[in-house]
Amino acid sequence: MLQMAPETMRELAHHVADLLIERSVRLPGERAWEGDFKDALADRLDEDPPEAGRPAREVIDRAARDVLSNTLRLDHPRSFGFVPTCPTWPGVLADFIASGFNVNAATWLVASGPSQLESVVIGWFRRWFGLPDGAGGLMTSGGSAAALHGLVAAREAAGNPERAVAYMSDQSHSAQVRAARIVGIAPDRIRVLPTDTSGRLDPGAVTAAMAADRAAGCTPLVVCANAGTPTRGAVDPLPALADICAAERVWLHVDAAYGGFAILTPRGAAALEGIDRADSINVDPHKWLFQPYEAGAILVRDAGTLERAFAIQHDVLQDSVWGARHANLADQGIQLSRSFRALKVWMSIQTFGMAAFRAAIENGLDLAARAAEHAGRCRTLELVSASLGIVCFRVNPGGLNEYALARLNRKVLAHVFWGEQAFLSSTMVNGRFVLRLCILNHNTTWDDVRETLDTVERSAREVDEGGWRKPQEPGAG
Ligand SMILES: *Cc1c(COP(=O)(O)O)cnc(C)c1O
Repeated sequence: MLQMAPETMRELAHHVADLLIERSVRLPGERAWEGDFKDALADRLDEDPPEAGRPAREVIDRAARDVLSNTLRLDHPRSFGFVPTCPTWPGVLADFIASGFNVNAATWLVASGPSQLESVVIGWFRRWFGLPDGAGGLMTSGGSAAALHGLVAAREAAGNPERAVAYMSDQSHSAQVRAARIVGIAPDRIRVLPTDTSGRLDPGAVTAAMAADRAAGCTPLVVCANAGTPTRGAVDPLPALADICAAERVWLHVDAAYGGFAILTPRGAAALEGIDRADSINVDPHKWLFQPYEAGAILVRDAGTLERAFAIQHDVLQDSVWGARHANLADQGIQLSRSFRALKVWMSIQTFGMAAFRAAIENGLDLAARAAEHAGRCRTLELVSASLGIVCFRVNPGGLNEYALARLNRKVLAHVFWGEQAFLSSTMVNGRFVLRLCILNHNTTWDDVRETLDTVERSAREVDEGGWRKPQEPGAG
C-alpha cells in the first residue's frame, strides 16, 4: 500500500538530487530572500488531505514551487542576516542516509553503531573545547535544546535548590532565558545584568548580584556566559567568570551556539580563552560547522550529570541495558526517539578533513575583518562593532540626529530587502539602530561582501533622493 517499486524509488531520488544540485548552482544569481503574505500562501496551500494519491513527482515539484521557494536562502553567499548557515553536501546526504536507514539513536541495543559514532563526534567537540576526559554530552536539535540540557544538569548538580538564581547579560540569547524558565527559575530570579559598551558582562556586577541574592536567602545556581553574543559576537570575560563560579560553587554555562567553532582557528581560540573552564557549553554545528538543520550539541564537564538528571527506568525499555560500559543516549536528554545527527558531522569532516573546515571558518573571520575595515573607510558608513564574524555598522552621512539615522537605516534595510540579491538584518547596539552582517558562509567571497556594502551605500543615496518606494518593510503584514 505504502510501498514503491525500486525503479520508482531510484527515479524519484535522482529527481530530488537534480533539484537540489540545480538549486545550489543557480543560488548565487538569485535573490537571497523570497516570501509571501499569509493570505496568498493560505490560498495556495490550505486544503484537506487528498483521499487518493497523486504522482510523486508532481508532489515533489509542487513542494519545491509553492512551499520551499518561499524562504530566506540561508546558504546564499550574500545571505548575512541573523545567523545563516551553508551546509556541506555530505552533511545533506547524511540526513538522507540516516532517514533511509531509519536510525533511532535512542539506546545502545537499538543503535550501537550510531551511539558509538555520536560519542566519537562528541569526543571531538570535547577536545576542541579543552574539556577533560570525563566530559561528555550529546547531540540535540539545536542550541536552545542544548542550553536547556546544560541548565538541567546545573540544577541537578546543585541538588535542585529552591529559590535558585540564574545570571546572564542583557545581550544573552532568548534561548538562555527560556532554558532558565523551563528549569523552573522564577522570572524574578533570572538576573539580566547590564553590559559594558562592548557588550560584555561585568564580573563585578555578577559578584555583587550573587552577594545580594545570598543575603536574601536565594541560591545562585548558574552563570550563563556568552561566547559570541547574537547581536555583535561579544565574548564575556570567561576567565573572570570562571574564577567567580569556582569561588562561589556556581555552575558556569557558556552559550557558544554560533561562535563556538571559531575555536578551531587561532583567532577564535584567543577570543574564546577560558571556555575550557565551563561546566557546560552549548554549540550549534548547524551554524559555523556547516551542517544542515537540526544539529546542536551540549557538552558537560562531568558526563554523569546528564545521566543523573535525565535517566528514568521503564519496564518497556528493560532490554536496553544489554551490553556494558555504554551510554544509552536517551538517558542523557529529553528525547527518547532521536535522529542520528552525529552522522552529518562525521561524514562531512571525514570527506573534507579538518584543514578544510578550519580554512572555511578562517574565511568567515577574514571577510568580517575586511568588511569592518571597508565600512570604517567609507565616508557614508560608520563601523559600530566587529567580532567573531559579525559586523555592525550603519549609514551615517553626518548631520543627522539619532532618530533620523534610525529612520534612514530602516529605509536602507527595506530597500536592500526588496530590491537586491542580498539579505542583511538589523539590531540595536548601545541603543542605536544598526545594520548587521553575520559572515559565516564558506561560499561567500570578498566580492559578495563588498557588493553588499556597495549596495547599502547605493540604497542610502536612492532612499535619500526619495526615488524608491515599496509598500511594506520586512516583517510587516
Ligand atoms: C542560534 C543561537 C541560539 C539558539 O540556537 P538554536 O539552534 O536556534 O536553537 C542560542 N544562542 C546563540 C548565541 C545563537 O546564535
